[in-house]
Amino acid sequence: MAPLEIIFITSALLAGTRAAGPQPLRVTTIKEEPYVMSKGSELEGFCIDLLSALSKKLDFKYDVHMVKDGRYGTTDDSGNWNGMIGEVVRGEADIAVAPLTLTAKREEAVDMTKPYMQTGISFILRKGLASEDSHFLSLLHIFSTEMWISVLVAYLLTSVCIFLVARISPCEWKQPEKEQNSFPLSHSFWYTVGALTLQGVGPHPKALSGRVITAIWWLFSLVLLACYFANLSSWLRSDNEQLSFKSFEDLANQNLIEYGTIKDSSTFTFFKNSNNPTYHRIYEHIKKAQSYSLSAEEGIRKAQKGNYAFIGESVFLDLAVARYCNLTRAPEIISMRGYSIAAPLGSPLIKNLSVAILRLSESGELDYLHSKWWVSSCLANNGKSSPLKPASLKGIFLILALGLGLGLFIALMELASKSRNIANTQQKSCCSVFSAELSQRFRGGEVTKPGSSDKNKA
Ligand code: GLU
Repeated sequence: MAPLEIIFITSALLAGTRAAGPQPLRVTTIKEEPYVMSKGSELEGFCIDLLSALSKKLDFKYDVHMVKDGRYGTTDDSGNWNGMIGEVVRGEADIAVAPLTLTAKREEAVDMTKPYMQTGISFILRKGLASEDSHFLSLLHIFSTEMWISVLVAYLLTSVCIFLVARISPCEWKQPEKEQNSFPLSHSFWYTVGALTLQGVGPHPKALSGRVITAIWWLFSLVLLACYFANLSSWLRSDNEQLSFKSFEDLANQNLIEYGTIKDSSTFTFFKNSNNPTYHRIYEHIKKAQSYSLSAEEGIRKAQKGNYAFIGESVFLDLAVARYCNLTRAPEIISMRGYSIAAPLGSPLIKNLSVAILRLSESGELDYLHSKWWVSSCLANNGKSSPLKPASLKGIFLILALGLGLGLFIALMELASKSRNIANTQQKSCCSVFSAELSQRFRGGEVTKPGSSDKNKA
């Protein structure tokens, strides 16, 4: 491909640069989304905007060309550099402006500015490379453990309250000595389950106290079910499966999927030089299987096809995941590093460029550029659901608690009112009638069979 060029003509030269005249700086770069991309015959992207901002700040002009071998830069067996670093070392370019990682080895060969962006190393793979056992568990995963415990406690308390109210309330259980109570403990538990599954199971409470508790429990069940299904559907839509491969350790310990980095990249060099046994195993595997990608685009393409984990820099991988909805990034990020601009050793450019980068960062312009180029087109993925916690539904738990308290209070009032009537007619103390009534209702509710009291008397 013919090199793409951008020429900006400005008035003065950068102080201390190629002092021979107003010659533009030769800038080497590499095509990588969203740093450098073609738009017709021009270039655009984060690095192009950065270069333009730096040229305005430092007042220089420049020509951009693509690195000839399409590499970032590493040394061969005889110690010669390839890629953009090689071009800078050989004097074929004055600076390299690209997502070029600052490493110790590169810093020995060229001068590098302060980083303009931070990143780490992670990997992406196609969604759906998930463990088999996650499907069953995902149904329980909709609510957090605390939520499930809270629902269970709410269920037990409500069942017990319905049972108590049905015993206490004289409107529910008019004649404890003659009638069977219609809400034994077993029916109370069954009744609340019926409401929870939207299947009414009779008999229903007749007293106001019982109805208050029932109505509040129905409301609670409706809200709970609505939240469960809403969360379930967003869970399914976001395809939020448990990844089988969450870490580099998982990747190194399996033979099911292939994995690789960009050839001759700093990521590959990191695994090559690492003393960590897991990372070194990853390097050995990539080298043996020759499972490199020649470019970031190729890595993404392979990952999209499936059965390939593309290992790269997280800031780039996040963009890939935001653009291609079928990809997902592993949660593990290792080896934090930064992207810098490279210039030949001893270049007076470095100091000025570093200061300009820091100024752009401090004024928020780098943040603006980041937000400009890291736009997500994969909106469906943004609303990843997480298990619902009781705090999100504390309102409805509070209403249920108030309803249960109110129901019990009304039941006691109903009994108190009945006790007062009896106390008035029988000229007894209201409290003694109330406690006698209460104890009769909790004696076990055994029905006094007609005539049995006479027999006892006899
Ligand atoms: N930024 C890297 C470098 O400068 C290339 C990408 C990668 O390592 O994944 O070599």
